[in-house]
Amino acid sequence: MTREALPAFKYFRDPLGVGVIQESDAVCLCCAQTRGYVYTGPVYAIEELDDQLCPWCIADGSAARRFDATFVDELGVGGYGSWEPVADEVKVELTTQTPCFVAWQSEQWWTHCGDAAVFVDYAGKDELLRYGDALIQRLKNDVGIDDEQWNLVFQAMRKNGSVIAYVFQCRHCGEYGGYWDCD
Ligand SMILES: [Zn+2]
Ligand SMILES: [Zn+2]
Repeated sequence: MTREALPAFKYFRDPLGVGVIQESDAVCLCCAQTRGYVYTGPVYAIEELDDQLCPWCIADGSAARRFDATFVDELGVGGYGSWEPVADEVKVELTTQTPCFVAWQSEQWWTHCGDAAVFVDYAGKDELLRYGDALIQRLKNDVGIDDEQWNLVFQAMRKNGSVIAYVFQCRHCGEYGGYWDCD
């Protein structure tokens, strides 16, 4: 089948590349259509909606309205102590119209310049070295661990491993930020 171009998400750059949207012949539980793609990331709802929603019903907010669902944990938006708070309308767009990445622990969404940042990708040590030292310092300093502890964490980080970094980019100044967790 020919597949339409995916909708753009303001706060998530490449959900297909990251893997939370996948090619599928599943029928969307919201619009009842087979659109060629299914969302496979987290869903918070009373109904079982895993792997049953198309990206368009997330993008236009219809899945969130119909099922009273959210995709990003609101408590995690700007969740770290040093991160900036954001306006309620940003939280609404993020939680109800944005796909979410898959984290080991409950997800946190990096904020900067008064806005939620764009989720870019998962990363391990090798990827972080390519993003540069400013991001690495930020990942270390936001959790306030010492050099020795950080070195152990950093050496263990793998993109698909049990210690993972979650990389975001600010929509306004272009800086990278994020956090890391482990299983
Ligand atoms: Zn749909
Ligand atoms: Zn910024």
